[in-house]
Amino acid sequence: MTATVTDTSKEAIRRIFDAQRANQQAVAQTTARERIAKLRRLHKILMRYRQEIRDALYQDFRKPPTEVDLTEIYIITSEIKHTIRNLRRWMKPHHVATPLPLLGSRSYIQYQPRGVVLIIAPWNFPVNLTFTPLVSAIAAGNCAVLKPSENTPHSSAVMRRIVKEAFPENEVALVEGAVETSTTLLNLPFNHIFFTGSPAVGKIVMQAAAKHLASVTLELGGKSPTIVDETADIDKAAARIAWGKHVNMGQTCIAPDYLLVHESRKEALLKKIEQHLKASYSEDPQQSPDYPRIVNRKHFERVRASLQDALDGGARAIAGGQAEAAGRYIAPTLVTDVDKDSRLMTEEIFGPVLPVIGFRNLQEAVDIVNSKEKPLALYLFSKNRNNIRQVLNHTRAGTTCINNTLLQFNNHHLPFGGDNNSGIGKSHGWFGFEAFSNARSVYKQVWPFSTADLLKPPYTAWKQKLADWTLRWL
Ligand code: NAD
Repeated sequence: MTATVTDTSKEAIRRIFDAQRANQQAVAQTTARERIAKLRRLHKILMRYRQEIRDALYQDFRKPPTEVDLTEIYIITSEIKHTIRNLRRWMKPHHVATPLPLLGSRSYIQYQPRGVVLIIAPWNFPVNLTFTPLVSAIAAGNCAVLKPSENTPHSSAVMRRIVKEAFPENEVALVEGAVETSTTLLNLPFNHIFFTGSPAVGKIVMQAAAKHLASVTLELGGKSPTIVDETADIDKAAARIAWGKHVNMGQTCIAPDYLLVHESRKEALLKKIEQHLKASYSEDPQQSPDYPRIVNRKHFERVRASLQDALDGGARAIAGGQAEAAGRYIAPTLVTDVDKDSRLMTEEIFGPVLPVIGFRNLQEAVDIVNSKEKPLALYLFSKNRNNIRQVLNHTRAGTTCINNTLLQFNNHHLPFGGDNNSGIGKSHGWFGFEAFSNARSVYKQVWPFSTADLLKPPYTAWKQKLADWTLRWL
């Protein structure tokens, strides 16, 4: 069944924005208790819509219901629970130390909402990536406009109903539409824009934000490498790479994009990955109820063309390779002998194709990683502490997971986000709350006199002496 999303009119968007602006001060004044009540309401309604969300994602790209539970709904509910547990503490003034020259004062940071925020989401985890940032935005006391992706219209329709039921429009509103709607929204003077999507659109978002000097969080993508050294547990590495690559059919921002494996373990690893793929998706993944589909024809053609381009350049598909356009199906595919300049090795794959490159010493793998933009995630399978240290110290990445894949996303105590091309700013837990807040510094003079009182003009000789002493000792 196909469904499309129509763009929301400019007038409707302006009306929502103005209503939220008028309400923003009231929302900013809400207490922790009131914000927690909102989060509980969202949690309750979300759970009531659990089956509708599962059905919508099945219609959008045949996402298996269990995967919807674990990678969409659970991510939001666990974020809500973590936020509820911590919000009172986060909202309190954060006292900081007083340096000696400022004796007689007290200082603290007060986290205040940014105001009216815009959350633009991609299609690959449509519910998770629309509502998880919303949890942080609500916790921080903002009004929010949500713009989910036009590529997952069934999910957007369910989310619109959830938002309508959970919040008045002057507090949280969901606007459906594609580029036109997004552009209309980006022309408005939002206080903060939280964008999840491709680096190319991230640049458009940042340019639009510059017009109003809106702050931004950009959660982008890129090519996330996976390194397997000669000391790794090959069976576990294979199982976890096969899983991390094929959750959501590889349409995951932090999916292992390409695999760098020590030559001595390459054959064994690939054999094991194939075995684990068969164990998960059977001999014929096309028949497996647990294997999703590429979201639309355009993305199907993109992944297929990248694969073909690599094969034409001399690469070999050692597993998979089958594709069927009508069903937007591509088999889990392992490719070796890939040219480093091919599209598979230069563009984000975002599909179930894994190029594999062998290395003889770890520095070669580090050099390949460093020849590309900083990735969102880097995975490393190793039992050798020096190797782990070498990779961590000599590469850059937004996030890293050692001896597993994807799970760094699930620890609320870790900041989630990229670096430059893979993103700007962080989210999840405290870091999400911080992203949607302004850290306001408050300095309070407590004693009747301040050291600065002694140092006002006219700058007499003894004041100069005091300045000399300050430079020397403080
Ligand atoms: P996308 O950038 O094409 O679209 C994201 C959103 O931007 C959508 O809501 C879309 O309507 C809007 N948009 C598209 N073109 C626009 C334009 N010209 N002007 C204004 N708005 C526009 O991304 P996508 O295809 O939906 O998602 C895939 C990308 O997102 C991948 O690069 C992936 O790595 C990245 N991603 C990153 C994260 C993360 O957390 N860092 C998570 C998921 C996906």
